[in-house]
Amino acid sequence: MDFAVEVTIFANKQINKLNIMLAYTYVEHGKFELQEKPMPELADSQDAIVRVTLGSICTSDLHIKHGSVPRAVPGITVGHEMVGIVEQVGAGVTTVKPGDRVTVNVETFCGECFFCRHGYVNNCTDPNGGWALGCRIDGGQAEYVRVPYANQGLNRIPDTVSDEQALFVGDVLATGFWAARISEISEDDTVLIIGAGPTGICTLLCAMLKKPQRIIVCEKSPERIRFIHEHYPDVLVTGPERCKEFVLEHSNNGGADVVLEVAGTEATFHLAWDCARPNAVVTVVALYDQPQVLPLPDMYGKNLIFKTGGVDGCDCAEILRLIEEGRLNTVPLITHRFPLDKIEEAYRIFENKLDGVVKIAISGV
Ligand SMILES: [Zn+2]
Ligand SMILES: [Zn+2]
Repeated sequence: MDFAVEVTIFANKQINKLNIMLAYTYVEHGKFELQEKPMPELADSQDAIVRVTLGSICTSDLHIKHGSVPRAVPGITVGHEMVGIVEQVGAGVTTVKPGDRVTVNVETFCGECFFCRHGYVNNCTDPNGGWALGCRIDGGQAEYVRVPYANQGLNRIPDTVSDEQALFVGDVLATGFWAARISEISEDDTVLIIGAGPTGICTLLCAMLKKPQRIIVCEKSPERIRFIHEHYPDVLVTGPERCKEFVLEHSNNGGADVVLEVAGTEATFHLAWDCARPNAVVTVVALYDQPQVLPLPDMYGKNLIFKTGGVDGCDCAEILRLIEEGRLNTVPLITHRFPLDKIEEAYRIFENKLDGVVKIAISGV
């Protein structure tokens, strides 16, 4: 070990003694910065403090950076996709204990209100409910994070499941799982998934669990198309220009039986209902920058069923079980790895879609 390394380690230890940690922070519109902040403390009996061992960057973080999440609070630590080790729990936390390896849920929910009791946790009526971590309260692109309602927000990771295998359970994988769950997919179906970004791929993996007759992915990026061909060779792939024609050629009843729109543009919204057969389910997972037009006269008589999201992220235990059984694997999505103190570089790659990036794992320092 050279002297410089030794000095750095010593300095880090001194910082920790002073209860200071590194936290990637939303400073103002267009600006994130790695800052030193006090380590979080328990603020409620239902809180837990988690040492973040692995986190990730999500497209929603970029939405915050570019001002399209008005409820995001300047000064907060960003990051809402992470796993870690429980350090401390409040007196009311019963489902996890210090030392447990856990996934952290993107959503905060009380578990008791009308919506929580019916599984619609995205609409939890608690003032802290919904997407709070890394948006309205400090999140997980940091060394430590305070998780409110830890009984609901943390799930223990089975011993045989690695941090990398569990990394997306609380956010993008929860979203894909929920989207596939509400889409009423049966084994006779042709399923069309529009968009093969990280959420699109997670949606694809969860749709595959339903064993439909065929799955078609619509994607225009050559890199993403290559990724699908390489990892999921049974999946049919088409580009947006030929999508409708392709779906008609590869479906039994004049269109897709189920469509999941995960891309989020005006053109893909149009494709979603246009490629659906009459009486199909169209699930809109995507988040749009602009309002979309639902041209009811054009779709009159198609009798479509639309479902829209916000993920209800309450299936994490089941998702972890599927990973443990080897039936779900999102590790191939991790194309890049960086330590927390190099997070600026990770954002540069993720934001500019460089070097074939799908997802980046950020390890604790
Ligand atoms: Zn996210
Ligand atoms: Zn609730």
